[in-house]
Amino acid sequence: MGKIAITERVTGHTELIGLIAYPIRHSMSPTMHNEAFKKLGLDYVYVCFEVDNSTLKDTVAGLRAMKVRGWNVSMPNKGPITEYLDNLSPVSQIIGACNTVVNDNGVLTGTITDGVGAMHSLKEEGVAYVGKKMTIIGAGGAATAIQVQAALDGAREISIFNLKDKFFAHAEKIVNDLNERTDCRVTLFDLADHAALKRELDSSDIYIDATSCGMKPLEDVVAIPDKSYLRPDLVVMDTVYAPRETKLMKWAQEVGCHTFNGLGMMLYQGAAAFKLWTGKEMPVEHIKDILF
Ligand code: NAD
Repeated sequence: MGKIAITERVTGHTELIGLIAYPIRHSMSPTMHNEAFKKLGLDYVYVCFEVDNSTLKDTVAGLRAMKVRGWNVSMPNKGPITEYLDNLSPVSQIIGACNTVVNDNGVLTGTITDGVGAMHSLKEEGVAYVGKKMTIIGAGGAATAIQVQAALDGAREISIFNLKDKFFAHAEKIVNDLNERTDCRVTLFDLADHAALKRELDSSDIYIDATSCGMKPLEDVVAIPDKSYLRPDLVVMDTVYAPRETKLMKWAQEVGCHTFNGLGMMLYQGAAAFKLWTGKEMPVEHIKDILF
């Protein structure tokens, strides 16, 4: 909170915004939102609460009873919290999870802002995605949010690749839903099918990597086998932001691709939640100066 004393900043009028997850003490969200509140002179404070599934129901009831304006949700609560909310956005309905809750006079609405954040990051990088083909590797929380948002926002075609792990079956359901509900053509492939991976990347405009590869403990792992799967006019977005540059991004730079990390996605998912709670635009340039 900079140099402003807590007694000046927090008064009887101050409203609470929270983040409920476990573990959560490492989160950058309090810094991002509190700096934005301070910059705009908004009388809110953002605080993390260590909450897991065992105390989730009581927590939601408490937040509703206390008229808390809204909160973020992270693991392990993103899926289970949907049971305790009144409304879900279309993205949250398809995925069955949410990362943001808004409390409108006791009516709790959940949504997911990660995909909005990723689309905003593409826009900021000058990358058009409406009518384009994407290859997205990954089928976990981040990947699914991006896939659903991209399909809803007008991507023409999405090829999803994932290991045949616990995420694969969930991806099959998402693919069916998206093909039914949107005009986007979505196909799921096994990441081990390298011929398909090469073919789909060759015909894609954008490659988004939303796997755990590139971050600890997989910092030396890349989801694609080698650089020959990339070409200079392929846009490569890696959702990882710690480290700032992954091995995939290094390969992409060597090949001459436009490449960027997940910082923009992280910033704009926060900005989307901020807007839902406060009705104001997050001062993103100020937040970039502080966080990036
Ligand atoms: P998750 O656990 O839900 O999903 C993990 C995904 O990685 C799955 O698709 C899994 O199959 C895949 N995977 C794991 N090991 C792999 C390997 N060796 N090879 C290929 N694929 C592998 O996790 P998540 O929360 O979706 O996070 C995934 C990535 O997204 C992480 O890198 C995380 O940093 C990033 N992320 C970024 C943001 C952001 O705002 N920028 C937000 C959330 C997550």
